[in-house]
Amino acid sequence: VPKIEIKDLSKIYNGRNGDVVALQNTNLTINQNEFVCVVGPSGCGKTTLLNIIAGLEQASGGSVAVDGKEVKGPGKERGVVFQQYALFPWKTVLKNVEFGLKLRGLGKAERRERAEHYIEMVGLKDFAHAYPKELSGGMKQRVAIARAYAVQPEVLLMDEPFGALDAQTRAQLQEELLRTWQSEKRTCFFITHDVEEAVILAQKVIVMSARPGRIKEIINVDIPYP
Ligand code: ADP
Ligand code: ADP
Repeated sequence: VPKIEIKDLSKIYNGRNGDVVALQNTNLTINQNEFVCVVGPSGCGKTTLLNIIAGLEQASGGSVAVDGKEVKGPGKERGVVFQQYALFPWKTVLKNVEFGLKLRGLGKAERRERAEHYIEMVGLKDFAHAYPKELSGGMKQRVAIARAYAVQPEVLLMDEPFGALDAQTRAQLQEELLRTWQSEKRTCFFITHDVEEAVILAQKVIVMSARPGRIKEIINVDIPYP
């Protein structure tokens, strides 16, 4: 069974100026532990596709299955990282990362240990007790990434997570993401409009065409991982 199976997916938004076809007959299979990047012009349906896989948005037609089970809403096996970090401003870095673990019923000691591990992984050990407003954009994004990783979802869905960062921070986070992906083996679905980033990260690059949101090409990136 593929990790994610998308069949004849379509999405039509009823916009102010009539219907907008965001996805049309999208078919895609993503295997376990695969790292897939989706590129394409703005408005081609990348976020719509991610949101439907995440269970945050409903399809107009077709289906998405994870581990052979149809997606009907959000699930703990799928973690999402957005471009805007969506941190709780009144919680410290540590409490922000611990929050998702609390929701999943982890005990206090395990929560703390896991949160600290992932905060260290993203290089924010010295900022565990800082509040989001004390952090730069890049640092906030790292907290959002630590929060998603800490839950250890089997599928990581990322919507331009590094889009707002400067080149150096982006390169650093790309490297961390790849390192984690290699050691912890997740299935990654990563949206970017940066083709270079897609090629650095992905084993498979999915190119979507402008209109109406369709997969134009799937490119296998055959670089050996270190
Ligand atoms: P991308 O992520 O590739 O930029 P989106 O998935 O955000 O593309 O959008 C795909 C298309 O659907 C665009 O034409 C966009 O304007 C439209 N769209 C997205 N969300 C909505 C919405 N809530 N209502 C109406 N149209 C929408
Ligand atoms: P942005 O992308 O918003 O510029 P960065 O992550 O590049 O954010 O960080 C901006 C500032 O925060 C820089 O001055 C950097 O030195 C500082 N900074 C970032 N991470 C750390 C860290 N782990 N420890 C200390 N300072 C940091």
